[in-house]
Amino acid sequence: MRQDFYDVVVVGGGLVGACTALGLQQQGRRVALVDPGLPDFAALEQGWDARIYAISPGNRRFLESLGAWPDDSRIGVVECMDVHGDRGGRLGFAASDVGAPALAYIVENRWLLAALWRRLREQPLAVFETPALALRRDAREARLSLEDGTELHSQLLVGADGASSWVRTQAAIGVNVKPYAQSAVVANFSCERGHDNTARQWFLGDGILAWLPMPGNCISIVWSSPSPGDLLALDGEALCERVAAAGGAALGRLHLLAPASAFPLRLLRPDALVSGRLALAGDAGHTVHPLAGQGVNLGFQDAATLTALLAAGGDAGDWMRLRRYERSRREAIVTMQTACDGLYTLFNRQDLPGLAWLRNAGLSLTDRLPGLKRQFARHAIGY
Ligand SMILES: Cc1cc2nc3c(=O)[nH]c(=O)nc-3n(C[C@H](O)[C@H](O)[C@H](O)COP(=O)(O)OP(=O)(O)OC[C@H]3O[C@@H](n4cnc5c(N)ncnc54)[C@H](O)[C@@H]3O)c2cc1C
Repeated sequence: MRQDFYDVVVVGGGLVGACTALGLQQQGRRVALVDPGLPDFAALEQGWDARIYAISPGNRRFLESLGAWPDDSRIGVVECMDVHGDRGGRLGFAASDVGAPALAYIVENRWLLAALWRRLREQPLAVFETPALALRRDAREARLSLEDGTELHSQLLVGADGASSWVRTQAAIGVNVKPYAQSAVVANFSCERGHDNTARQWFLGDGILAWLPMPGNCISIVWSSPSPGDLLALDGEALCERVAAAGGAALGRLHLLAPASAFPLRLLRPDALVSGRLALAGDAGHTVHPLAGQGVNLGFQDAATLTALLAAGGDAGDWMRLRRYERSRREAIVTMQTACDGLYTLFNRQDLPGLAWLRNAGLSLTDRLPGLKRQFARHAIGY
């Protein structure tokens, strides 16, 4: 049996696993990455990807520091937010409220992944595209057995293998799952009128629709809907009309750029982020409702925190260090999950008398309070 020894083995080569591996490798750690489902990276930068992320300026700086920020020509800039309630409430705020150039950057999943992997391929990193069969841990190390007979020994194993994490199951970390009665329908459109670098969001009463600005007068939508099948069943023209109408035709007529797709929404809260010789990062450690566009931002912050904590050298899987990782991430994760879940409940409940008035009045009242609006802008930017 072949036996390899590393400081860190990362399981999962999605956005969070790839940037964790890259950050640790650039520190001079010996890193291996395991993912049997890696895409064909040469094909990633072709066509539109309806899966997009609103990346905070703080995470943009983190990715730039790794040399993994994609070409600006495919990146949308959010300078303003325009939020509409379901009964006339409205809130707007802007990056300029706090003297910043942008609230967020809109990036396609494939372009971000391609930029990370291009940088990763330049590193002396061991990549195993083989399924893992078993994970064993003791006080000194984690041992990952791969299907091809290789055994990877490491001081620390990072589970960045997504919401259905195999690593989390192997480590017997329990998880609390709350399914939302919605799926997110995503698609890209070109628009008749300019979007002015404004992200628009409508709380519709039975769903939440976001229009996110992309380069070239295009938008990407995320429609959290209780009936995604109805939207996916529409032909291109009918979908354009439905999406335009739901947004009050704010950008005139729409033209579909690539077929819509949907992904189910659920809140995942694992019992722990760490266990002996093991840490979870990204969707393996938490998911949130996409209404604030913060899911992958939390994951990038996991990667940035782990990288910073391991920068000092020494035993990568030291238990005190893992506890510090959990303590420093726990508060941000719980705060974001609670805020998004609270907003989801506030804007989707139709059964409580007066709640619709309250949420819309709340939006409009906030709109008249510059100090509070600056707080929203600061929060979006991440400082
Ligand atoms: C279909 C879909 C569409 C989405 N669209 C959007 C969107 O439009 N906007 C948005 O903000 N968010 C979207 N999300 C959520 C977003 O993709 C996640 O928050 C983000 O990708 C989390 O990154 P991650 O690296 O933690 O996990 P993932 O991106 O899930 O990556 C996990 C990686 O682990 C690998 N892996 C899985 N199992 C194993 C295993 N046993 N061993 C080794 N490797 C393994 C996978 O191949 C994958 O590469 C979507 C999610 C899904 C499922």
